[in-house]
Amino acid sequence: MQIDHINFDNKKVIIRVDFNVPLDAEFNVTDDTRIKAAIPTIKKVIKDGGTVILMSHLGRPKGREEKYSLSHIVSTVEENLGESINFVYDCIGDEVKSVIEESEKGSVILLENLRFYEEEKAGDKDFAKQLSELADFYINDAFGTAHRAHASTAVIAQFYPTNKCFGYLIEKEIISVDKVLNSKEKPLTAIVGGAKVSSKITIIERLLDTVDNLIIGGGMAYTFVKAQGGKIGNSLVENDYLELALKIIEKAKKNDVNLLLPIDTIIADDFNNEANTQVVPINEIPEGWMGLDIGEKSCELFAATILNSKLILWNGPMGVFEMEAFQKGTVTIALTIAEATEKGAFSLVGGGDSVAAINKFNLGEKVSHVSTGGGAMLEYIEGKQLPGIAAILNK
Ligand code: AMP
Repeated sequence: MQIDHINFDNKKVIIRVDFNVPLDAEFNVTDDTRIKAAIPTIKKVIKDGGTVILMSHLGRPKGREEKYSLSHIVSTVEENLGESINFVYDCIGDEVKSVIEESEKGSVILLENLRFYEEEKAGDKDFAKQLSELADFYINDAFGTAHRAHASTAVIAQFYPTNKCFGYLIEKEIISVDKVLNSKEKPLTAIVGGAKVSSKITIIERLLDTVDNLIIGGGMAYTFVKAQGGKIGNSLVENDYLELALKIIEKAKKNDVNLLLPIDTIIADDFNNEANTQVVPINEIPEGWMGLDIGEKSCELFAATILNSKLILWNGPMGVFEMEAFQKGTVTIALTIAEATEKGAFSLVGGGDSVAAINKFNLGEKVSHVSTGGGAMLEYIEGKQLPGIAAILNK
């Protein structure tokens, strides 16, 4: 059942949101992206005349820890929603029930941090049942935790045989990945970067079955270069993965995938923004130097492929973009993806640091979709079934 096809009038609706936002020392929210992302779903239920009960986790508390109380984020939720909300210092029990009972339709109640109960992460059935007894309808809109079988993400859904759906946010996440991985449009280009081959290997192998072009950049590229006999100096390398890198190159050939590796690199004599730098061919890095970004020729090579693509998936930076001296490759790729999107391509940016990069360069609006769920997005692309998604679909 799709959220747009449901009328929540007079219904008590419990929504699992991802309000796991960063807080500063004074408990102010420093980035409200995740709160903003949940607003459309909340507004839809309010507009229909339902009562909204919001539940989330925040951080990794060990038991009840005041610094992880969701009370800290109430004013930020109110600002984004444009109305006041009711906070309850617990997420199950009689007090929560009576607050909900006394609430008028259209009101919003925020429950205390689910992880104050260890039953949440343990996926405890009884805890999930108690949460389910608070409402007639369950919406999951927390994509970031969809890959975990927690009480509030997967287990609770069992207590709603039919009265459950995805929120707009998860719906958009799923539609976006499905569009990239299952669409017949071509060419499909995946750009994978970041530090290590080992953490991306499953995703790379899955992508080799689907994509037309696979661009590999970032720290992991040097393992591929070394595997082919190149000199990589002191660059990041995983020696245990050299053979696997060669197998990936082989598989790409076999599957007719155009595998692109960087051809030049910006090298530094220290892992430091102020280090001495030079640009060299990526397979000719002298000892004592390390590659920390892709060079201009690589950017041009990658850009030509990206601009020619209809579907684009990007995960992982092209270099150490946190340092200004080594951010150019990542910025150029981000700008190129934005340009391709403007020309009509569909672009999905997913997973940890590439999202941070897109946000750092203020390009979030210029790509088709920026995923909110790092690990969840990667596992979904890898083809794994996510418990939080499967539970809504009764799979
Ligand atoms: P990941 O979490 O695997 O996507 O990796 C992201 C991290 O990889 C970022 O913190 C980058 O600074 C780092 N990274 C990217 N390129 C390199 C490189 N050439 N050498 C070392 N670290 C890199």
